[in-house]
Amino acid sequence: MNTGLACRICGSSRLGAHVIAPEMMFGTREEFAYLPCLACGTLQIADFPADMAAHYPPGAYYSFNNAGGLSFLKRAVRRVVAGTMIGRPDRATRGGGVIDRIKRGAEPWTAAVPGLKRSDSVLDVGCGEGARLEALVALGFSDLSGIDPFLPPERAGKTSSGITLMRGELASADRRYDLITMHHSLEHVQEPGRLLEQARDRLAPGGRLLVRIPLLQPWAWERFGTRWAQLDPPRHFYLFTTEAFINLAERSGLACTSHGFDGMGWSIAWSEGYARDIPMNEPNGRANALPFDGGEMAAFEREARRHNAVGEGEAGWFVLEPAAR
Ligand SMILES: [Zn+2]
Repeated sequence: MNTGLACRICGSSRLGAHVIAPEMMFGTREEFAYLPCLACGTLQIADFPADMAAHYPPGAYYSFNNAGGLSFLKRAVRRVVAGTMIGRPDRATRGGGVIDRIKRGAEPWTAAVPGLKRSDSVLDVGCGEGARLEALVALGFSDLSGIDPFLPPERAGKTSSGITLMRGELASADRRYDLITMHHSLEHVQEPGRLLEQARDRLAPGGRLLVRIPLLQPWAWERFGTRWAQLDPPRHFYLFTTEAFINLAERSGLACTSHGFDGMGWSIAWSEGYARDIPMNEPNGRANALPFDGGEMAAFEREARRHNAVGEGEAGWFVLEPAAR
């Protein structure tokens, strides 16, 4: 175990006692150790599993993220005033850009990137099979690429809608982009600081990086502990605090120009499920249902919005740009 070593994020040797957390998305209940850094607050997996591919069953993880995630967003946006999901960007960033005038509901994070244009080149890092990029096609974007080390080889190349899908790591991308996005992918990589540096080096002049990650919040940790759904062992290697992530970005040559919170009710609901020892799926592939009715689910949504509003959401977005040298 990584005990006695240093925090991989800030370098401090002040690590707290490890906690043991079970895998609950696929119901294997295999146990993994995580270490809290007492200096920067990051919770990190003690050891990287040797075979991570085994923890991303073919199709299952991405179909969950894409189908479940996207349709959830759409449903949520219908209920929530547009903008709230992405932490209500301030008025200055909400002014009359083209994205503000079109239906921002499909991909609400677009409202967080000031001046984003449909002609901008976009690279999504950790794109899965590209469902989020397809949503951008629907919004009128035309220069879209995605890269993912777990992309099935047969999916690499141009899609019928003109998206370029690449199988591999960001380091192998050989052009620059106006916008690079990481939607809940950074927490899955062993060296997030290095990934941020690679993204910075692939930004076109004036380019921005949008990172969305889960965020470790005291209320969630105290309430759910190792059954907190956003821990998602062993796939999430790092759970950052807002400050720890902004500091990491700065050490990677990036300045944070705005950030906000977009935690969602389904996450609180699944944390409650995990706390009741209900995994999201059984090892045989059968999906479990949560024991909550519509009213209870709506209450989780309202709770998530309350946390977001006071800066304590269990997920957040960050707009970054290269720091002045
Ligand atoms: Zn640390």
